[in-house]
Amino acid sequence: MLVNAYAAPAAGEPLVPTTVTRREVGSNDVLIKIEYAGICHSDIHTVRGDWGPQPFPVTPGHEIIGTVVEAGADVTNHKVSDRVGVGCMVNSCRECSNCRNDDEQYCLNGTVFTYASADRDGTATQGGYSTHVVVDADFVLKVPDGIASAEAAPLLCAGITTYSPLQHWGAGPGKKVAIVGLGGLGHLGVKIAHALGAEVTVLSQTLKKQEDGLRLGADRYYATSDPDTFKNLANSFDLIVNTVSADIDVDAYLKLLAVNGTLVNVGAPAEPMSVNVFSLLGGRRSFAGSMIGGIAATQDMLHFCAEHHIGADVEVISADEINTAYERVLASDVRYRFVIDASTFV
Ligand code: NAP
Ligand code: ZN
Ligand code: ZN
Repeated sequence: MLVNAYAAPAAGEPLVPTTVTRREVGSNDVLIKIEYAGICHSDIHTVRGDWGPQPFPVTPGHEIIGTVVEAGADVTNHKVSDRVGVGCMVNSCRECSNCRNDDEQYCLNGTVFTYASADRDGTATQGGYSTHVVVDADFVLKVPDGIASAEAAPLLCAGITTYSPLQHWGAGPGKKVAIVGLGGLGHLGVKIAHALGAEVTVLSQTLKKQEDGLRLGADRYYATSDPDTFKNLANSFDLIVNTVSADIDVDAYLKLLAVNGTLVNVGAPAEPMSVNVFSLLGGRRSFAGSMIGGIAATQDMLHFCAEHHIGADVEVISADEINTAYERVLASDVRYRFVIDASTFV
């Protein structure tokens, strides 16, 4: 079926209204009528060409919430009228060691991502800035009651991307955790780390959003533009999650880690990041990366967020505001996630 959507026609060009073709609903597929799609900075990196050539035109969007309107004959886990979500991936091989280990995002035979990725039939996947999507039921998440749809959408990428490393590296009571960058990922990282019981510090470029940071659950808030921040906080954190979309001075942040501490990069800037190994040696420190999370972990995260009443702080926009919203994200002027009302894809 042909559905209304927005797409970037070429690298760096504004998004424009278009249509995309959704495949017939297969026996293990569901057809979802999209309610909201979040705007992730990864959408912007992709369409601006930060991550290299893309199969344009690209319809971005991998924070999708909607309702099942049709389910294939073999689908048992979702039914018509269920509220569901789709995140960054829509398929994987299910057979490799990583898939069997619930890490489908690291599929050794190639994860199929939600957009700009080669689908099983060879066509390029097209994302959630559209009215409907057809997805294999095994990659569709149940969205528990208790979180409004617009606020739940960003959990599908920003939520799992922060929840996964916080869980993996043991954020919890007695642990000092810093979140670098208070944007879409960062603000959910603060809420989740706080709900896990960790002592949470925000490291933001300025103190402009300090009041918000404390309201979201941070215990402390510092400006990274102030050189004293790096002196006063030296050797203090067990875990730092860096959500910054640009290159940072990795060594300066590594020195904020206590012995055995880990700096996890989830930010994915275009530029390579350099590390002076002495920043690692001087405290048995680790520099790590983490990409989204598996389907089972994403479902756990949605239950955790419902239980702790965590959703994103959102600004709901219409489709014709996407390009302006991109500019505001690039200017670090997002409070804290733009979410597109899918009824405006006309
Ligand atoms: P975002 O909403 O734009 O937030 C990024 C924040 O980083 C900004 O709000 C700003 O926070 C800070 N920042 C921006 N430019 C900076 C600069 N030049 N120097 C220092 N700080 C800067 O973006 P997002 O959607 O949260 O995504 C963040 C990054 O994570 C992107 O690179 C995205 O592609 C990546 N990502 C990765 C994964 C994964 O699986 N690993 C998943 C999703 C997204 P302050 O104003 O507080 O300083
Ligand atoms: Zn994302
Ligand atoms: Zn696999």
